[in-house]
Amino acid sequence: MHYAEIADIYEKIEATTKRLEMTDLLVQLVKKTPRDLIDRVVYLTQGKLYPDFVNLEIGVAERLAIRALARASGWPEEKIEENIKQSGDIGETAQKFIEMKRQITFFQQPLTVNRVYDTLDKMARATGSGAVDMKTALLAGLLSDAKPKEAKYIMRTVTGSLRLGVADMTVLDALAIAYGGSKEARELIERAYNISSDLGRVARVLAYEGIEGIKRFHVIVGNPIRPMLAERLSSPEEILEKLGGKCIAEYKYDGERVQAHKKGDEVTLFSRRLENITDQYPDAVKLLRTHVKAEEAILEGECVAIDPETGEMQPFQELMHRRRKYGVEKAMEDYPVSLFMFDALYVDGKDLTLEPYPVRRRFLEEVIEESERIKIAKSIITGDVKELETFFLEAIEDGCEGLVCKSIHGDSVYQAGARGWLWIKYKRDYKSEMTDTVDLAVVGAFYGRGKRAGTYGSLLLAAYNPENDTFETVTKCGTGFTDEDLMKLPELMKKHVVEHKHARVNSLIEADVWFEPAVVIEVLGAEITLSPIHTCAMDLVRKGCGLAIRFPRFTGNYRLDKAAEDATTVNEIAEMYQRQLKKIAEV
Ligand code: ATP
Repeated sequence: MHYAEIADIYEKIEATTKRLEMTDLLVQLVKKTPRDLIDRVVYLTQGKLYPDFVNLEIGVAERLAIRALARASGWPEEKIEENIKQSGDIGETAQKFIEMKRQITFFQQPLTVNRVYDTLDKMARATGSGAVDMKTALLAGLLSDAKPKEAKYIMRTVTGSLRLGVADMTVLDALAIAYGGSKEARELIERAYNISSDLGRVARVLAYEGIEGIKRFHVIVGNPIRPMLAERLSSPEEILEKLGGKCIAEYKYDGERVQAHKKGDEVTLFSRRLENITDQYPDAVKLLRTHVKAEEAILEGECVAIDPETGEMQPFQELMHRRRKYGVEKAMEDYPVSLFMFDALYVDGKDLTLEPYPVRRRFLEEVIEESERIKIAKSIITGDVKELETFFLEAIEDGCEGLVCKSIHGDSVYQAGARGWLWIKYKRDYKSEMTDTVDLAVVGAFYGRGKRAGTYGSLLLAAYNPENDTFETVTKCGTGFTDEDLMKLPELMKKHVVEHKHARVNSLIEADVWFEPAVVIEVLGAEITLSPIHTCAMDLVRKGCGLAIRFPRFTGNYRLDKAAEDATTVNEIAEMYQRQLKKIAEV
């Protein structure tokens, strides 16, 4: 097949303004493509050489492309550059300069699809010191044999600006029309794509084996599965009703979703957008290698940043430190992660995507050897509104975003690539920044781990209730302390240690060490939330609930000028909470 045939269709696709016409043109293209080329043509039509999850790009900089065009056309680079400034499109400029070519190429070979693909593939794979020269030579060679129109599309492809805008769904439509035509065929083809994320592979199977082949299509370790997503509802009543009266509710961890593919000792991690993010999480890779008891598996979970000293979960933003090419080792020490696994899609030869969730979860439980750093998502099975609400508050308390409630019925398959009602997320739909700092009394402490062994990992803090002269707990704070603070703290608190919870302290939490309320520190939090385990303003806003400060940080200020009774009062915290709600209502 000649590349010119593809270029002709590209030109028509570019000219059309109608989605249906675009599909028709793609159908024509699919039909005229020999089957051994179909995957290549599908990738090329989207400006790619491989599916997105393959970590290889053609990656040609404009400078290199100009040099190659100058070589192939015989025109100086400055002239070409000038023209690009006018046209704004390196493709059009290439078309023009190849048309005005100054040197004749003898024995000009017509370009075949294979030659174009193979050359671009070589360019993508070129690395090392000679890579730039090699890529320039390869591109110049192609352009020398290209017709003007072909040059336009080659140039756009290599610089990542093909501009045809052919979406995955459009290609699926075209494949379905070309090979099947029925609605059922379309659904099967889409499912094949959803469990492989590889349009080229889907097209190839269709071309060789037809719809029957697509019916036999299965997941492969190494090919990411497009993620199942959740709908949202804002009350436990609605959620239970939608899920048939009973569901499994799981913590909604606030981290990065990872899809782990394990084959022997090799583990690959894909992000929610199916990018290969293996290099960002060497620690997660190691955990999976050692704690997954299967030769082959595809598992999903949430990767969450953990405070190395306290073991507590950190907000999602902390994972940003892992998004880097260099220095991951250091980031790994400073921002360690834990894994919370929530699905099993494939285990040792068994494709689980069409199994109901309870079955998949059983596989997950069998395959994961839990440790402190890798766990299965915390869950309850319930049909009770109150229980669901309490579990939700617990999740928030533990630093999660809320819950994901999942269907446990026979039809609760893994809906790859779809946002559906088999998973329903339950988050507070408000979020607001706490802008005021609060002064809280230190009433207890928890021993530290890791670097903080021998000192405190976090402090239990309380607000003051002047009405009955008690201190009601409102948060656990382990962030914001310098090394010096940590050295100083046990010394500072020593004279306030008491054997058991102080009589004026009202706490449902068991601390490792208790203090008489005496020392006050200044803290800034992210927001105030309802809490089933903190006693601050208990029953005031809602029966059975207190208030908690989420993600608290010590500002560095010891309020030595304040007595414990001068700490922020529980009423002030309740007012801050109400103001926060009002602010959200106004938005
Ligand atoms: P959000 O911003 O709320 O995470 P989203 O569009 O990325 O939304 P949703 O499908 O709406 O994704 O919510 C599910 C997301 O929650 C998953 O992508 C995953 O990253 C995360 N998550 C955390 N814990 C769980 C869990 N136990 N089960 C499923 N997903 C979970």
